[in-house]
Amino acid sequence: MIVLDPGHAPSIHAVDPRTGLDVSDYANEPEMRDVFAVAQIVRRELVAAGYRVVMTKRGVYDRVSLARRAQIANRVHAALALSIHDQAGYNGGIRFGQANSIVYYQSLGTYRASPDGRRTYFTDRQVAARSQRYGRIFRRQRALAERDGVRLQGNVGYNLGSRGLAAGNIWIVQLLSHVPWIYNEAGGNSAGRSGLNPADRHRYAAGLVAAVERCVPLSR
Ligand SMILES: [Zn+2]
Repeated sequence: MIVLDPGHAPSIHAVDPRTGLDVSDYANEPEMRDVFAVAQIVRRELVAAGYRVVMTKRGVYDRVSLARRAQIANRVHAALALSIHDQAGYNGGIRFGQANSIVYYQSLGTYRASPDGRRTYFTDRQVAARSQRYGRIFRRQRALAERDGVRLQGNVGYNLGSRGLAAGNIWIVQLLSHVPWIYNEAGGNSAGRSGLNPADRHRYAAGLVAAVERCVPLSR
């Protein structure tokens, strides 16, 4: 069972009752449409190969909080979950395959803080070890498909509080997940446009599919 998590939703405000974390999400176009399209390609190919696949969103404009996304993967005991993001747009957008190709895995000691300062840490040693192993596979397979250097990171690399998000250094969906969760970033602009063209959507998807097939091989 593989869970695919295409990034972003129309603005949704939510607080996780257990941790007090802000689990809101916000719309981001054209990223939201592009990464949903990439997820659909990945889903089609994985299903054709014999995987069971659950998406955290059924449509581009589903309002799904970050906590709900994690809950979906936890509930189905996914072997692996993956988020798909990119950075697109005329302002601050990054060319696909040229930068911002990043694979994040879950590691011990990362955290996010609630508005009142309560920290929730990622503490699952077994999931952390598996997530790191899967992260290496994603880096390799994405680099082959995207023909770009892909960075591997065990934390976000800066304090997300500096962006007005909950303070800390792990993505919320990864923190609240009980299963290995790989969070993917990429450049979001194809040559001469804001957003991804079909060729780049397929390149992004191809790396993700190849990685899933190596992380969670199907028994034949
Ligand atoms: Zn994003």
